[in-house]
Amino acid sequence: MKLSIEEIKHKVGEGYDFELKEKVEELKYKGENLVFSEPVKVSGRVENLGKGLFGVWGMISTAIEDRCYRCLAKTRLELKINFNFKFSENPENFKDEEDEVFPIEKDNIDLYTPVINEIILNLPSKILCSPDCRGICPSCGADLNAGVCKCKKTNVDPRLQVLEKLLDTNND
Ligand SMILES: [Zn+2]
Ligand SMILES: [Zn+2]
Repeated sequence: MKLSIEEIKHKVGEGYDFELKEKVEELKYKGENLVFSEPVKVSGRVENLGKGLFGVWGMISTAIEDRCYRCLAKTRLELKINFNFKFSENPENFKDEEDEVFPIEKDNIDLYTPVINEIILNLPSKILCSPDCRGICPSCGADLNAGVCKCKKTNVDPRLQVLEKLLDTNND
């Protein structure tokens, strides 16, 4: 995931548009494997901002695969993330910058680390197969998205409902 600054190194205000694609198989994250179901695509623009600073901005798009937090079904999560990174051959000169300034080595901007950081930062804390996933029954383990489980059925047994009604009227 590299961008050369050779052509724009000494030309303040100059830049170029780019589109990069890289296959990232797996990534360790919080003790879990993050599986990418699509290559990581990064498109945008790199520009010489002057004073030895280079800006790279644009959009990261990819998709990851994980298990739903509630029902454990395989779930695909599309990610589209806007980014704005800064790079320099002397990042130590920009310690006062609000944003982190990443190092440039041998006229190359390597987007890999900031891009992966950005993806991890933008992951939801809980991945769900759908916002209204019903999850798994805590007593029998049945997938409640597929229908009502046996435990649930006994609760809504029509005979019981009649009984409840009778009890209610008796209390009145
Ligand atoms: Zn689910
Ligand atoms: Zn159940």
